[in-house]
Amino acid sequence: MEKALLIREDGTRVDGRKPDELRPFRMEVGVLENADGSAYIEMGKTKIYAAVYGPKEAHPRHIAQPHRAILQCRYHMATFSVSERKAPGMTRREHELSKVIREALESVLFLEEYPRSMIEVFVEVIQADAGTRTAGLTAASLALADAGIPMADLVAGVAVGKVAGRLVLDLSEEEDKNCEADLPVGMAPSINSIVLLQLNGRLTREEFSEAMRMAKKGIEVLYEAQKKALQKRFAAYGEVTD
Ligand code: ADP
Repeated sequence: MEKALLIREDGTRVDGRKPDELRPFRMEVGVLENADGSAYIEMGKTKIYAAVYGPKEAHPRHIAQPHRAILQCRYHMATFSVSERKAPGMTRREHELSKVIREALESVLFLEEYPRSMIEVFVEVIQADAGTRTAGLTAASLALADAGIPMADLVAGVAVGKVAGRLVLDLSEEEDKNCEADLPVGMAPSINSIVLLQLNGRLTREEFSEAMRMAKKGIEVLYEAQKKALQKRFAAYGEVTD
């Protein structure tokens, strides 16, 4: 597709969104029976499950740390998650994204509270339409909360991109493929902390500031939805009536 067509004359995007508009999204907590904590997120056509196990005794024993828990994180795309069959094994990209998500989560977890333990986080992308690292992080944070693991704050993420010279929030794959720059951002809003920040491509200083402002606004919307999804989960137990 021609880049110019990605932004229409009236400034709207190819899917009709305004530049600073998120895709329709949905979050649910406690969706899997067999994990200690779990969550599901849809951001547009992107669909992701996150599952958490732990804290539990570190295994194998030799990886245990005497003064803290180990956080293991696996970001994985299902074979059927992309338009052309993806090989089932872990690619370099998946290893990288596992690390990026782990580091983002480490900045809000109190790992020193759980010596000799481990926490496992699985981010399973069921359908990919861009923004999977940030949506995966948002879901992982919910799954950790669902597992009852204390965090300094929830974290949520979204990407801002530059498409046909314009900054746009929450890229779809069509936009992602044709963008001049892509800035995935993860934040812990209440403690005012940036936990994930990557930049592909180039932005001017002014564009970068504007992109961060747009990301923050989007993340605040996601953050409110995260809190609602958790309230809904725990209201089901009668622990929260609101
Ligand atoms: P993110 O999903 O965080 O935006 P990328 O920018 O690396 O990460 O990927 C953008 C999108 O490109 C993915 O969400 C997915 O829709 C698509 N994509 C990634 N890897 C593949 C692949 N192996 N085959 C087809 N599409 C892919």
